[in-house]
Amino acid sequence: NRRIVLAARPEGAPRLSDFRVETGPVPEPAHGEVLLQTLALSLDPYMRNLMDPVGPGYAPPVALGETMVGGTVSRVVASRHPDLRPGGLVLANAGWQDFTLSDGSDLLPLDSGSAPALPPSLSLGALGMPGFTAHVGLLDLAQPRPGETVVVAAATGAVGANVGQLARLHGARAVGVAGGADKCRHAVQVLGFDACIDRHAPDFAQRLAQACAQGIDVYFENVGGAVLDAVLPLLNPGARVPVCGFIAHYNGPMEGASATDQRPALLATVLQKRVRLQGFIVLDHYGERFEHLRRFRERMHRWIEEGRVHAQEHVVDGLLQAPQGLIDLLAGRHLGKTVVRVAEA
Ligand code: NDP
Repeated sequence: NRRIVLAARPEGAPRLSDFRVETGPVPEPAHGEVLLQTLALSLDPYMRNLMDPVGPGYAPPVALGETMVGGTVSRVVASRHPDLRPGGLVLANAGWQDFTLSDGSDLLPLDSGSAPALPPSLSLGALGMPGFTAHVGLLDLAQPRPGETVVVAAATGAVGANVGQLARLHGARAVGVAGGADKCRHAVQVLGFDACIDRHAPDFAQRLAQACAQGIDVYFENVGGAVLDAVLPLLNPGARVPVCGFIAHYNGPMEGASATDQRPALLATVLQKRVRLQGFIVLDHYGERFEHLRRFRERMHRWIEEGRVHAQEHVVDGLLQAPQGLIDLLAGRHLGKTVVRVAEA
């Protein structure tokens, strides 16, 4: 069993030396347990937060020497559990390793679904945690109305791509922000965003203002940093800002950041324009025994099959490439949902 452990706590962006590969025997399931083989491992920005000594609050940090955590699509390869049969696929939290044990309580069995079957790894992306995050933040919290302008950064990423597409499906205008011309083209031509602005453009703030001539009604906050600065003056009264993440700050202070604290401006805007700035954690919304997640998955499955939602994946080949995959993810060197192909499905 190969596992990738946290070898050192990163300072700034993570480096390969922050990870270490260890090997050990494949564990044996005890009574009531299953042995899971990882088929696909999700890589997500929160993993950077869990590498810090103090965690983000909703999950404990990974201890030095411990296996990196992560969502997986796994196969049951041996079972001493009454309800889980060998061969079945499950959504699991096996982490960065080939094999793990589970008592079944944290597993969501994945039925093969109707033909044409979608790749099981989509359950880590559009059909899983990031897709559901977009759904909760945009539809449950922000509730965009037809004709309103929705802005999301990291627009071609795992969450942002779904935010834009769900906004369009609900009749809103979707304006994306992404790193580079290629990503922006993808956002408009493949994902159907009405516009997408390159955050590296020198006149980024001006271009964003031009693309949001009627102001911004919903800002789905994924990044913070310079994008938030450019968004604040464009927010309409009564705008909704579901706060999903602040990836620009995950590696510590931003390069070239001004010494001016932006928080007072943020709070003043929230107060004066009656903005609902609401944090949420997707895990709270999965429902009793995943009932809400299941309902969401049925709708999203249909939309993907009907071609109304495009589910792009960035596949990293092999478990040992996971550290580089996370480094690339944080640096934005990917398109769509990053998944590690650990074993053949
Ligand atoms: P992505 O696939 O979107 O990858 C991260 C992207 O962030 C990069 O591709 C890059 O896109 C962008 N980015 C990186 N650095 C910066 C920066 N300094 N300024 C602006 N953009 C930057 O990741 P996810 O879709 O998985 O996650 C998006 C956000 O959602 C994250 O903040 C994450 O923590 C959060 N999240 C929150 C959840 C919750 O429950 N609250 C659940 C899931 C995710 P580009 O180069 O194109 O700009």
